[in-house]
Amino acid sequence: MRYGSTRGAAAPRAFDGVLLAGLAEDGGLFVPESWPVFSPAEWRAMRGLPYASLAARVMEPFVCGGAVTFADLQAMCRAAYRPFDHAAVVPLVQLDHDLFALELFHGPTLAFKDLALQLAGQLFDHVLQARDERVTIIGATSGDTGSAAIEACRDRARVDIAILHPQRRTSEVQRRQMTTVLAPNVLNIAVQGTFDDCQDLVKAMFADAPFRDEVRMSAVNSINWARIAGQIPYFVAAALALGAPDRPVAVSVPTGNFGNVLAAWAARQMGLPIERFIVGSNSNDILSRFLANNDMRMAGVIETVSPSMDIQVSSNFERLLFEFLHRDATATAQIMADFRATGQMAVPEPVWQAVRREFTGFALDDDATLAEIARIKQDYAYIADPHTAIGIAAARACAPIGLPVIAAATAHPAKFPDAMERAIGIRPGLPTRLAHLYDRPEQFHRAPAALADIETMIRRFANRNSV
Ligand SMILES: *Cc1c(COP(=O)(O)O)cnc(C)c1O
Repeated sequence: MRYGSTRGAAAPRAFDGVLLAGLAEDGGLFVPESWPVFSPAEWRAMRGLPYASLAARVMEPFVCGGAVTFADLQAMCRAAYRPFDHAAVVPLVQLDHDLFALELFHGPTLAFKDLALQLAGQLFDHVLQARDERVTIIGATSGDTGSAAIEACRDRARVDIAILHPQRRTSEVQRRQMTTVLAPNVLNIAVQGTFDDCQDLVKAMFADAPFRDEVRMSAVNSINWARIAGQIPYFVAAALALGAPDRPVAVSVPTGNFGNVLAAWAARQMGLPIERFIVGSNSNDILSRFLANNDMRMAGVIETVSPSMDIQVSSNFERLLFEFLHRDATATAQIMADFRATGQMAVPEPVWQAVRREFTGFALDDDATLAEIARIKQDYAYIADPHTAIGIAAARACAPIGLPVIAAATAHPAKFPDAMERAIGIRPGLPTRLAHLYDRPEQFHRAPAALADIETMIRRFANRNSV
């Protein structure tokens, strides 16, 4: 499989090049040059496979052919999903006649990002080994991504990882999940500033070519195609369990950067009958405004009880736009340039209508989210975290009659104890694997939100083994 950019001005490349580059050099996102399609008989043959085997089958056309063989991919999937603490890896829990929670939080950091990142960590090591290279992954986090990336990269042979988090602005669980990892290839930096400051610092490091080259900077942010690929298999597993390809289904996903729901849409492109995509938002509702009124306008970020969805622009939406523009990269580049210049995305009316035939938007503010957590507990005896609750509420409000709905349960409620206490008066306990999180020693460095200080810190870290 080869990949091209949604903006058409980057050299096409194979999977390993896409993995290491992340973003295309024209500012676009990498997309597969064609969608692999499985026949109904091939889908049926995947029913009942162990999750790691199913994941390897689904990802094979995207990943294999160059540096990664199918046997390599199978071994990496087994290693990636072994640390999950449920035999099904992604269990499907029935809440109501046609409503199912797809639990994606049984990995090491209790959020769905582990599914793609545990595998991405393996893939990085494998591809870098083949090329005899090393990288320093640098990222900014408001909580979930940083801990999942650190867990995925700890103790890897060819990867160092430096993560910037805003000091005192992540939850204690989220901070400790990062800072109690004492592996020598992990550097945690608590920045005296906001998440936006952290993100700006990472962007500035990417723009500093001498620095970038010296530390061989790379990234695993949510626009990396490997992350999307790693999220397709669980939608496949759930759809097959509910009767696909012989019975259509719908999905409902609490959405931030649009990565998770795009992975579900990719499964449809590959031939599974997923007939509706329900996109849940919190008060940062740019996507639901777009789907309701073709109004995609940037607004300031509002802090909510579902912090992993507190974002202004859903970067992965560009991939969907490109597809709905019939893969016209020139038109995509133009719309994205205008969006950047004006803060408003002008999606042509027929394109918007076509998107609306498949996608429905839904938004809940904080009060409604907390009320929904209580209602879900009351109706289904199920404890949903604030993100998951938005997805379930969206499914209940928007699901087409007669279709079973897969609602993505994206985080364990113990990650957000304060919100859970406000909603239902309970602080959910951490699973056994994290029971000692509060007793473990922490290690991190503090830094002002100043580029020079942080670059010096990372340079010293990346060069620590050279003389
Ligand atoms: C990252 C995250 C989301 C948003 O997912 P996207 O792929 O960015 O749309 C939702 N819920 C939780 C718990 C998350 O960590």
